[in-house]
Amino acid sequence: MRYIRGFRDGAAARGLSRLIAAEVRSDREYHLMEFCGGHTHAVFRHGVPDLLPDNVQLIHGPGCPVCVLAMPRLDLAIELAFDERVVLASYGDMLRVPASRKRSLLKARAVGRDVRIVQSATEAIVLAQQHPDREVVFFAIGFETTTPPTALVILEARRLGLENFSVYCNHVLTPSAIRSILDAPKVRELGQARVDGFLGPSHVSTIIGARPYEFFAEEYQRPVVIAGFEPLDVLAAIRMLIRQLNEGRAEVENQFTRGVTRDGNRKAQAMVAEVFELRPEFEWRGLGMVEYSGLRIKKRYAEFDAERRFGLVEKPAAENKACQCPAIIRGLKKPMDCPIFGTVCTPRNPIGSCMVSSEGACAAWYQYRNGLAASA
Ligand code: SF4
Repeated sequence: MRYIRGFRDGAAARGLSRLIAAEVRSDREYHLMEFCGGHTHAVFRHGVPDLLPDNVQLIHGPGCPVCVLAMPRLDLAIELAFDERVVLASYGDMLRVPASRKRSLLKARAVGRDVRIVQSATEAIVLAQQHPDREVVFFAIGFETTTPPTALVILEARRLGLENFSVYCNHVLTPSAIRSILDAPKVRELGQARVDGFLGPSHVSTIIGARPYEFFAEEYQRPVVIAGFEPLDVLAAIRMLIRQLNEGRAEVENQFTRGVTRDGNRKAQAMVAEVFELRPEFEWRGLGMVEYSGLRIKKRYAEFDAERRFGLVEKPAAENKACQCPAIIRGLKKPMDCPIFGTVCTPRNPIGSCMVSSEGACAAWYQYRNGLAASA
């Protein structure tokens, strides 16, 4: 904790704020996207926007794993939960995400379906060992940080000879989402936020390294600075981005050198490559269908693939018309632009996915900025 405190020092934050103000040019705007939901949470929790000049705008990106799961995928999880044979093991936040027809895993549990909250993929394996007469399905979501643990439990299930364990795989890839945000062909269909540079995610980058972002710097001429999650990390990374933009550079820089290398964690990458392969396309809430953006379980581990085992087939599902989550996830709108923010939709009664997880933009706004917004 003492170590962390050093990265939250108020006087140092104010000092960095002054350095940023000195570097910012008054004749231009800076639109910087924090890709990761962890950054969105940290930005609001520590009041980072209040330390920035008005012409430095932070745009929330699609890096909240709970927020970006498309409704048809969540509907399939609910379908699994209603299978009499199944114990569905899920991370807690997923239970409260609204699915189509006002359903959720929490409501499924309330009517007697066996939905268990787990903190890790390993707990799902333990459940399968404890309940040999049931089918335990692990509802796997998340970016590259949570993918290696899922790969590990599949390998472990094979080693243990577990026949009643499978994974409903919804793992997604960060670089594909960044590309979708920048990609010109999608602009007409979904709209495009102005993004001058990216704060790159830290935990994801410990796995994939800094190298995958080099493509965006080179091809799209957008600087990327990988940043830690503490407020001084974020402020230092913002200053690095502003300096790059002022100097006309578009490079990948690594502020989070204490955790991220250029090549990432090769052991974890090898484990993921052993178990998973790319899906040709995968649907994201807010981004639509994105090519090569999701992972599925390879045929050689097919017996652990819940989609194959239970014959799951996606069906179209309509979003709640009032909910602005898709536009918020894409960086086109802010939570306050949603007409039901803080009134009909609150963390106790989330209407959209962005109000569920603490990494969701709406939940973070509600928790840390609602008072400010109300008095504005
Ligand atoms: S406030 Fe609620 S309904 Fe509105 S965009 Fe956010 S999550 Fe969706």
